[in-house]
Amino acid sequence: MAGNWKMYKTPAETKAFFEKFLPLVSGASHCEIVINPPFVNIAAAVDAAKGSRVEIGGQNLYWAKEGAFTGEISGPMLKASGAEWVIIGHSERRQYFGETDETVLKRTVAALEADLKPIVCVGEMLAEREAGETEAVLRTQFDGGIAGLSPEQFAKIVIAYEPVWAIGTGKTATPEMAADAHRVLRSLVTAKFGADAGAAVRILYGGSVKPDNVKGLMAQPEIDGALVGGASLDPGSFASIVNF
Ligand code: PEP
Repeated sequence: MAGNWKMYKTPAETKAFFEKFLPLVSGASHCEIVINPPFVNIAAAVDAAKGSRVEIGGQNLYWAKEGAFTGEISGPMLKASGAEWVIIGHSERRQYFGETDETVLKRTVAALEADLKPIVCVGEMLAEREAGETEAVLRTQFDGGIAGLSPEQFAKIVIAYEPVWAIGTGKTATPEMAADAHRVLRSLVTAKFGADAGAAVRILYGGSVKPDNVKGLMAQPEIDGALVGGASLDPGSFASIVNF
């Protein structure tokens, strides 16, 4: 269960979140719990989560290790700050910051080289779904990105299926719609990396996951977890999702 805080919270607000959140999830051993705050809050989050099962991640990284890339953050920097995970290819990065399948692949390889666990996002826009192109879009994103990994690299990533029309809109894919897309992704993985990889890969659903819809989504055997934006900002609501 991963929370994406997007561009919200200060270090002080991060500390306050963990003070409330950690006691609420102290009994949760059924899943890994990850919070991805903005870069400037990673140190505060790592410090606040110390001694708990909650791990911290970044929301992006650049593929060079260091250099003249003003405004960017590298995998080794994230790792040295105590991050264990990193979100890659979020639709907001694709929509507003020019992320492509090619750069998703570069960032994923860089994350793995830095010993970070990548959560690689894919998903279709509303017009693509309405045109019946969901499967084709997922195939293109898979082929142009993740499929370029070696089998050893692929085994270390988590995929997040996030239909763009469901992110931050309050519109959730029905559990069946999400499961269908997860099946498509799993079959792409099986075709490229083999049946064992297809069975083992963890696919998270993301898109307006809330305490009141998480149970239905998680009841689908195809859905292995959730990537949660808005509802992860509140300790009570993200704890309810974790404890579904
Ligand atoms: C996200 O940011 O990855 C996300 C799914 O956002 P929300 O839960 O707010 O739709």
